[in-house]
Amino acid sequence: MSDTPPIDVIPVMPFGMVNAFLMTTGKGAVLIDAGLPGSERRVEVTLRRRGMAWSDLRLVIITHGHIDHAGAAARIRELSGAPIVLHQDDADYCRGKPPVLRPTGTFGRLFRKTGAIESPFPPFEADRLLIGDETMDLASCGLSGHVLHTPGHTLGSVSILLDDGTAFASDLVASGILLGGLVLRNRPKRPPFEEDPRQVANSLQRLLDLGATRFLIGHGGPLGVDQVRWHIGRLRRLPSWADRST
Ligand SMILES: [Zn+2]
Ligand SMILES: [Zn+2]
Repeated sequence: MSDTPPIDVIPVMPFGMVNAFLMTTGKGAVLIDAGLPGSERRVEVTLRRRGMAWSDLRLVIITHGHIDHAGAAARIRELSGAPIVLHQDDADYCRGKPPVLRPTGTFGRLFRKTGAIESPFPPFEADRLLIGDETMDLASCGLSGHVLHTPGHTLGSVSILLDDGTAFASDLVASGILLGGLVLRNRPKRPPFEEDPRQVANSLQRLLDLGATRFLIGHGGPLGVDQVRWHIGRLRRLPSWADRST
Protein backbone atom coordinates (compact mmCIF):
# COMPACT_ATOMS: atom_id res chain seq x y z
CA MET A 1 0.00 0.00 0.00
CA SER A 2 3.02 2.30 0.28
CA ASP A 3 3.53 2.41 -3.48
CA THR A 4 2.76 5.67 -5.22
CA PRO A 5 -0.75 5.46 -6.66
CA PRO A 6 -1.38 6.45 -10.28
CA ILE A 7 -2.11 10.19 -10.24
CA ASP A 8 -3.92 11.96 -13.07
CA VAL A 9 -3.90 15.72 -13.43
CA ILE A 10 -7.40 16.86 -14.40
CA PRO A 11 -7.14 20.04 -16.49
CA VAL A 12 -9.95 22.18 -15.03
CA MET A 13 -8.39 24.85 -17.23
CA PRO A 14 -5.62 24.03 -19.76
CA PHE A 15 -1.85 24.60 -19.50
CA GLY A 16 -1.83 23.97 -15.76
CA MET A 17 -3.84 27.12 -15.04
CA VAL A 18 -6.25 25.18 -12.80
CA ASN A 19 -5.57 21.58 -11.75
CA ALA A 20 -7.58 18.94 -9.93
CA PHE A 21 -6.18 15.44 -9.29
CA LEU A 22 -7.46 11.89 -9.39
CA MET A 23 -5.67 9.11 -7.51
CA THR A 24 -6.45 5.53 -8.45
CA THR A 25 -6.18 2.86 -5.79
CA GLY A 26 -7.07 -0.78 -5.45
CA LYS A 27 -10.31 0.35 -3.85
CA GLY A 28 -11.44 2.87 -6.47
CA ALA A 29 -10.52 6.52 -6.91
CA VAL A 30 -10.04 9.59 -4.75
CA LEU A 31 -10.64 13.05 -6.21
CA ILE A 32 -8.67 16.03 -4.95
CA ASP A 33 -10.70 19.13 -5.74
CA ALA A 34 -13.79 19.37 -7.91
CA GLY A 35 -12.84 22.30 -10.13
CA LEU A 36 -15.01 25.08 -11.48
CA PRO A 37 -18.75 24.49 -12.02
CA GLY A 38 -19.09 22.20 -15.05
CA SER A 39 -15.80 20.38 -14.40
CA GLU A 40 -17.65 17.10 -13.75
CA ARG A 41 -17.28 16.28 -17.45
CA ARG A 42 -13.48 16.43 -17.21
CA VAL A 43 -13.55 14.28 -14.08
CA GLU A 44 -15.72 11.72 -15.85
CA VAL A 45 -13.34 11.58 -18.84
CA THR A 46 -10.42 10.97 -16.47
CA LEU A 47 -12.30 8.20 -14.64
CA ARG A 48 -13.19 6.53 -17.95
CA ARG A 49 -9.56 6.62 -19.11
CA ARG A 50 -8.76 4.60 -16.00
CA GLY A 51 -11.54 2.16 -16.85
CA MET A 52 -13.74 3.47 -14.05
CA ALA A 53 -17.17 5.03 -13.66
CA TRP A 54 -18.74 7.47 -11.19
CA SER A 55 -19.56 4.59 -8.87
CA ASP A 56 -15.81 3.93 -8.42
CA LEU A 57 -15.23 7.31 -6.81
CA ARG A 58 -14.69 6.71 -3.06
CA LEU A 59 -13.99 10.19 -1.73
CA VAL A 60 -13.91 13.85 -2.79
CA ILE A 61 -11.43 15.99 -0.86
CA ILE A 62 -12.02 19.73 -1.23
CA THR A 63 -8.77 21.54 -0.39
CA HIS A 64 -10.54 24.85 0.21
CA GLY A 65 -13.72 26.73 -0.52
CA HIS A 66 -12.79 28.78 -3.58
CA ILE A 67 -14.92 28.35 -6.71
CA ASP A 68 -12.06 26.91 -8.80
CA HIS A 69 -11.66 24.03 -6.31
CA ALA A 70 -15.16 23.53 -4.88
CA GLY A 71 -17.39 24.71 -7.73
CA ALA A 72 -18.44 21.30 -9.07
CA ALA A 73 -18.43 19.41 -5.75
CA ALA A 74 -22.21 19.31 -5.29
CA ARG A 75 -22.74 17.98 -8.81
CA ILE A 76 -19.97 15.39 -8.51
CA ARG A 77 -21.53 14.04 -5.31
CA GLU A 78 -24.89 13.78 -7.10
CA LEU A 79 -23.28 11.79 -9.90
CA SER A 80 -21.01 9.58 -7.79
CA GLY A 81 -22.52 9.35 -4.33
CA ALA A 82 -18.98 9.84 -2.99
CA PRO A 83 -18.70 11.68 0.34
CA ILE A 84 -17.10 15.11 0.48
CA VAL A 85 -14.47 15.97 3.09
CA LEU A 86 -13.63 19.57 3.89
CA HIS A 87 -12.20 21.57 6.79
CA GLN A 88 -14.73 23.26 9.00
CA ASP A 89 -13.06 26.67 8.63
CA ASP A 90 -13.93 26.76 4.91
CA ALA A 91 -17.41 25.28 5.27
CA ASP A 92 -19.16 28.66 5.08
CA TYR A 93 -17.54 29.37 1.71
CA CYS A 94 -19.14 26.15 0.45
CA ARG A 95 -22.51 27.24 1.84
CA GLY A 96 -22.47 30.41 -0.26
CA LYS A 97 -20.58 32.94 1.85
CA PRO A 98 -18.25 35.06 -0.33
CA PRO A 99 -14.58 34.38 0.46
CA VAL A 100 -12.19 36.81 2.14
CA LEU A 101 -9.89 37.93 -0.67
CA ARG A 102 -6.59 39.57 0.26
CA PRO A 103 -4.71 40.21 -3.00
CA THR A 104 -1.02 39.36 -3.05
CA GLY A 105 -0.27 41.80 -5.87
CA THR A 106 -1.52 43.67 -8.90
CA PHE A 107 -2.97 40.62 -10.63
CA GLY A 108 -4.96 39.71 -7.53
CA ARG A 109 -6.32 43.25 -7.23
CA LEU A 110 -7.40 43.30 -10.89
CA PHE A 111 -8.74 39.73 -10.68
CA ARG A 112 -10.80 40.58 -7.60
CA LYS A 113 -12.46 43.42 -9.54
CA THR A 114 -13.79 40.91 -12.08
CA GLY A 115 -15.78 39.27 -9.27
CA ALA A 116 -15.02 35.85 -10.82
CA ILE A 117 -13.67 34.26 -7.66
CA GLU A 118 -16.68 35.46 -5.66
CA SER A 119 -19.23 34.10 -8.13
CA PRO A 120 -21.75 31.83 -6.44
CA PHE A 121 -21.49 28.10 -7.11
CA PRO A 122 -23.87 25.27 -6.16
CA PRO A 123 -23.59 25.17 -2.36
CA PHE A 124 -23.12 21.99 -0.36
CA GLU A 125 -22.63 20.57 3.10
CA ALA A 126 -19.62 18.32 3.61
CA ASP A 127 -20.21 14.73 4.67
CA ARG A 128 -17.14 14.90 6.87
CA LEU A 129 -15.81 18.12 8.39
CA LEU A 130 -12.28 18.23 9.77
CA ILE A 131 -12.09 20.33 12.91
CA GLY A 132 -9.01 22.18 14.18
CA ASP A 133 -5.85 20.15 13.63
CA GLU A 134 -7.75 16.93 13.05
CA THR A 135 -6.20 14.71 10.37
CA MET A 136 -7.85 12.06 8.23
CA ASP A 137 -6.16 8.75 7.47
CA LEU A 138 -6.75 7.65 3.87
CA ALA A 139 -6.06 3.94 4.51
CA SER A 140 -9.74 3.06 4.08
CA CYS A 141 -9.47 4.40 0.50
CA GLY A 142 -6.40 2.25 -0.17
CA LEU A 143 -3.90 5.08 0.25
CA SER A 144 -0.93 5.50 2.60
CA GLY A 145 -1.37 9.13 3.53
CA HIS A 146 -3.35 11.73 5.38
CA VAL A 147 -5.40 14.87 4.92
CA LEU A 148 -3.86 17.65 7.03
CA HIS A 149 -5.02 21.12 8.03
CA THR A 150 -2.61 23.56 6.33
CA PRO A 151 -4.14 27.01 6.84
CA GLY A 152 -2.97 30.23 5.24
CA HIS A 153 -4.30 30.55 1.70
CA THR A 154 -7.68 30.23 3.41
CA LEU A 155 -8.10 29.46 7.09
CA GLY A 156 -9.59 26.04 6.29
CA SER A 157 -7.16 24.93 3.57
CA VAL A 158 -6.08 21.29 3.72
CA SER A 159 -3.28 19.39 1.99
CA ILE A 160 -2.92 15.69 1.29
CA LEU A 161 0.45 14.16 2.14
CA LEU A 162 1.20 10.64 0.97
CA ASP A 163 3.79 8.50 2.75
CA ASP A 164 5.90 8.47 -0.45
CA GLY A 165 6.47 12.25 -0.08
CA THR A 166 3.87 13.46 -2.58
CA ALA A 167 2.08 16.55 -1.26
CA PHE A 168 -1.06 18.00 -2.81
CA ALA A 169 -0.60 21.53 -1.51
CA SER A 170 -3.40 23.22 -3.45
CA ASP A 171 -2.99 27.03 -3.33
CA LEU A 172 -0.37 27.30 -0.58
CA VAL A 173 1.96 28.08 -3.47
CA ALA A 174 1.44 28.55 -7.20
CA SER A 175 3.83 28.76 -10.15
CA GLY A 176 3.82 30.21 -13.63
CA ILE A 177 2.25 33.53 -14.59
CA LEU A 178 -1.05 35.32 -13.88
CA LEU A 179 -3.43 32.83 -12.18
CA GLY A 180 -0.67 30.21 -12.50
CA GLY A 181 0.49 27.68 -15.07
CA LEU A 182 1.13 28.62 -18.73
CA VAL A 183 4.90 29.27 -18.65
CA LEU A 184 7.65 29.46 -15.98
CA ARG A 185 5.88 26.61 -14.22
CA ASN A 186 8.94 25.68 -12.18
CA ARG A 187 9.10 29.15 -10.62
CA PRO A 188 7.12 29.43 -7.37
CA LYS A 189 4.90 32.41 -6.80
CA ARG A 190 2.15 33.50 -4.47
CA PRO A 191 -1.39 32.79 -5.70
CA PRO A 192 -3.52 35.89 -6.40
CA PHE A 193 -5.01 35.79 -2.87
CA GLU A 194 -3.78 34.75 0.57
CA GLU A 195 -5.67 35.23 3.80
CA ASP A 196 -2.49 34.91 5.94
CA PRO A 197 0.96 34.63 4.28
CA ARG A 198 2.72 33.79 7.56
CA GLN A 199 0.43 30.84 8.08
CA VAL A 200 1.16 29.80 4.48
CA ALA A 201 4.90 29.76 5.25
CA ASN A 202 4.30 27.70 8.42
CA SER A 203 2.06 25.24 6.59
CA LEU A 204 4.57 24.72 3.77
CA GLN A 205 7.34 24.22 6.34
CA ARG A 206 5.19 21.68 8.18
CA LEU A 207 4.74 19.69 4.96
CA LEU A 208 8.52 19.71 4.44
CA ASP A 209 9.11 18.66 8.06
CA LEU A 210 6.68 15.77 7.58
CA GLY A 211 8.63 14.52 4.56
CA ALA A 212 7.08 16.16 1.49
CA THR A 213 9.43 15.88 -1.49
CA ARG A 214 7.24 16.92 -4.42
CA PHE A 215 4.42 19.40 -4.45
CA LEU A 216 1.43 19.08 -6.78
CA ILE A 217 -0.49 22.35 -6.75
CA GLY A 218 -3.70 23.92 -7.97
CA HIS A 219 -2.16 26.45 -10.35
CA GLY A 220 1.05 25.49 -12.19
CA GLY A 221 3.59 23.10 -10.71
CA PRO A 222 4.79 20.60 -9.79
CA LEU A 223 7.45 22.03 -7.49
CA GLY A 224 10.34 20.46 -5.58
CA VAL A 225 11.75 20.91 -2.10
CA ASP A 226 14.30 23.62 -3.03
CA GLN A 227 11.69 25.75 -4.77
CA VAL A 228 9.31 25.49 -1.82
CA ARG A 229 12.10 26.35 0.65
CA TRP A 230 12.96 29.42 -1.42
CA HIS A 231 9.30 30.46 -1.44
CA ILE A 232 8.98 30.05 2.35
CA GLY A 233 11.98 32.37 2.77
CA ARG A 234 10.36 34.94 0.55
CA LEU A 235 7.09 34.81 2.51
CA ARG A 236 8.95 35.19 5.81
CA ARG A 237 10.70 38.31 4.54
CA LEU A 238 7.45 40.05 3.68
CA PRO A 239 6.93 43.32 5.54
CA SER A 240 4.26 43.01 8.23
CA TRP A 241 1.98 45.48 6.46
CA ALA A 242 1.67 42.98 3.62
CA ASP A 243 -0.55 40.87 5.89
CA ARG A 244 -3.20 43.52 5.85
CA SER A 245 -3.12 44.67 2.22
CA THR A 246 -6.58 44.74 0.74
ZN1 LIG B 1 -7.75 29.38 -3.77
ZN1 LIG C 1 -7.16 28.17 -6.76
